[in-house]
Amino acid sequence: MRYPLTSHFDRVPLAHAPTPFEPLPRLSAFLGGPAIYVKRDDCTGLAFGGNKTRKLEFLMAEALAAGADTVITTGGVQSNHVRQTIAAAARLGLKSEVVLRRVVSWPDAAYAASGNVLLDRLLGAAVHILDANADAAATMEEIAARVRRQGAKPYVVPLGGSNAVGALGYVRSIEEITAQAEDAGLNLTHVVHAAGSGGTQAGLAAGLAALDSPARLVSIAVLPAAAELGRQVADIVPGVMARLKSTKVVAPAHLAVNGDYAGPAYGQPTPAMIEAVTETARREGLLLDPVYTGKAMAGLFALVRSGELGRGHTVVFLHSGGAPGLFAYPSLFDGSDAPWPAVLKAGGKLL
Ligand SMILES: *Cc1c(COP(=O)(O)O)cnc(C)c1O
Repeated sequence: MRYPLTSHFDRVPLAHAPTPFEPLPRLSAFLGGPAIYVKRDDCTGLAFGGNKTRKLEFLMAEALAAGADTVITTGGVQSNHVRQTIAAAARLGLKSEVVLRRVVSWPDAAYAASGNVLLDRLLGAAVHILDANADAAATMEEIAARVRRQGAKPYVVPLGGSNAVGALGYVRSIEEITAQAEDAGLNLTHVVHAAGSGGTQAGLAAGLAALDSPARLVSIAVLPAAAELGRQVADIVPGVMARLKSTKVVAPAHLAVNGDYAGPAYGQPTPAMIEAVTETARREGLLLDPVYTGKAMAGLFALVRSGELGRGHTVVFLHSGGAPGLFAYPSLFDGSDAPWPAVLKAGGKLL
């Protein structure tokens, strides 16, 4: 695989790449619309993988160049980003301290103990858990100050690894996607993905522009504040284009985020997410996640059903990982025949 846009940047190899690009024939037939393919960035290989591993290849290169020995980052209790950051630090012989906020209230006892947070502890991080409204940035600064006083050198990875350096990981992913689609003789029309902190979208949008690809980016927000998320993406993109030394114009539509499938809040399930996760598991043996890719796939289902995506289109769904989060929501996926379990109806506000 050649990477004309990203091969000359400092990068620590952490990901198993290129990740596979595969057809989803049974899901395509079920939906009866476009040909659907999946880009398996859930298979990046680092401690169950996911999209953050690609960003961390560039971020960790920056950390090592700065002589850092301690990595600090933040996220929710079930953050995939935090899990992959701790694993990257372990792999490179660095210490890690992480600040987790209880941003999601969810009744399964497993939420606070299993899935990603279990792996964070196993991977050896010092884990600090704060309430939802606590100031994670301030806490990370306090930790960094203490680390410096102890004579060590901290490196703070931003939420989601989403800055112009981390976003280079998604320029690299779209380099793979466009090459793999071309090798398969496909005329790719749409790239569908989940958007959370903006770095993935910024990298994909910048890469599509720099590559002159006609494919359209369909970004599905996993939290209701889609307009604010779009502004974050727009903030990151210029730094990515500057690093690429590209003067191409990023399509304004590629800075927009669709908030129609986010549900009431980040990490709160929707019936459409449960349907998408369940159908994808049973028709393709492919495990999505409840917080990100399940909502993005629910968006893809809806766009096919509304006719916006149809025959004649060729769609790649970016699987950005997150399946460890399934174990935080056991009551949603226990195989009961109800359209969705009673726990989702409990309190109404969850819908
Ligand atoms: C973080 C994450 C995303 C969103 O990526 P951003 O760059 O934060 O927008 C999507 N899917 C999964 C599984 C993630 O962990």
